[in-house]
Amino acid sequence: MSKVLIIGAGGVGNVVAHKCAAVPDVFSEIMLASRTKAKCDRIAAAIGADRIRSAQVDADNVSETVALIESFRPALVINVALPYQDLSIMDACLQTGVHYLDTANYEPRDQAKFEYSWQWAYRERFREAGITALLGCGFDPGVTGVFTAYAQKHHFDEIHYLDIVDCNAGDHGKAFATNFNPEINIREITQKGRYWEKGKWIEVDPLSVHQPVEYPRIGARESYLLYHEELESLVENIPHLKRARFWMTFGQEYITHLRVLQNVGMTSIEPIEYQGQDIIPLQFLKALLPEPSALAEDYHGETSIGCQIRGLQNGQPKTYYIYNNCDHAEAFREVGAQAVAYTTGVPAMIGAMLLLTGEWQGSGVFNVEEFNPDPFMEHLNRYGLPWHEVVNGPLAFTD
Ligand code: NDP
Repeated sequence: MSKVLIIGAGGVGNVVAHKCAAVPDVFSEIMLASRTKAKCDRIAAAIGADRIRSAQVDADNVSETVALIESFRPALVINVALPYQDLSIMDACLQTGVHYLDTANYEPRDQAKFEYSWQWAYRERFREAGITALLGCGFDPGVTGVFTAYAQKHHFDEIHYLDIVDCNAGDHGKAFATNFNPEINIREITQKGRYWEKGKWIEVDPLSVHQPVEYPRIGARESYLLYHEELESLVENIPHLKRARFWMTFGQEYITHLRVLQNVGMTSIEPIEYQGQDIIPLQFLKALLPEPSALAEDYHGETSIGCQIRGLQNGQPKTYYIYNNCDHAEAFREVGAQAVAYTTGVPAMIGAMLLLTGEWQGSGVFNVEEFNPDPFMEHLNRYGLPWHEVVNGPLAFTD
């Protein structure tokens, strides 16, 4: 029985709050706090205000977050605000001796660049404080790391090739929208692609490498090589890897819109002066685009995210594909969310549960693949993200 503080009341925060509220044995008291309290109140009302309290917090401000933690005294903070807040919330957890969990790694506002170095630099301080920080516990990063750890534990002596494949075959009926925070999403997609091969990182132009990949229950979809944050920790934590890549599907309509927006400068994070005021074009674009949570009601179709792995077991070559498909409309019926928020929020709740029940424990800063994958895998089946595996079947990547 533990208290948990959730920070961030967007699409993902809504799912985390619903899923934690449904497990009172573990999450006995819940507080949902965010910059805009009205959003917390709406979520709390949908869940039932007796299960969840709400509060206003600016999580960029460490002392405000410390004050909130001290007044509520949670055992764990789940950070599902934005990557910009990661370090300030980690600082607040250190000051108050409270565990920390997030779903996206830190990135500075003025640089479209995400990497673990900033958060890994907290390892010693978390170790000395005797508390845990669990990083990247959504779906990707998150479940993709757990899937890889599970494959390593049960299916391979050596994993050589890892391809993470992420398809959203859902249709929300809008010409252009993003499935999670538009600013973070567009910063990620417009970066150079990057993958790891033979001990070094190889960079390619944004969205320049692509091929069709066959997704279960969906069919073939053009998939684009992107840099994604779990690659950075997986190449550290999975021995024998020769190559690790990440692929994501995009429709032609989406890519055309993105190209035009880029060409006219709307995705830039450099401030420009407009009518005597400095504005950041990407932040202005975010204000125009639909909120990801608003897409949920009319969304239909499925997501399919998994890991395609090749390697050796008992000296024999082996292929392994492990994946989850998630239906947008079912997620909406259950918690009023679309599948991208659902597939992020459920793993965050599961990671929180494993930390609070002591099944995952350790002092320091960890990525999910460093812990025993088995209880997490069981909980995925139980809490709404059942997974499937194909052993020695054909994979999309044979080279
Ligand atoms: P949203 O933009 O929908 O929600 C973000 C929430 O954080 C909003 O409620 C926002 O408040 C709040 N917030 C922003 N700044 C602050 C602040 N300074 N203090 C307090 N609250 C703040 O984002 P999503 O729900 O789509 O995404 C949440 C997180 O999940 C992001 O970090 C995203 O990168 C991550 N993610 C991870 C995935 C994974 O698989 N690992 C996949 C998808 C998302 P306000 O409403 O006032 O703006």
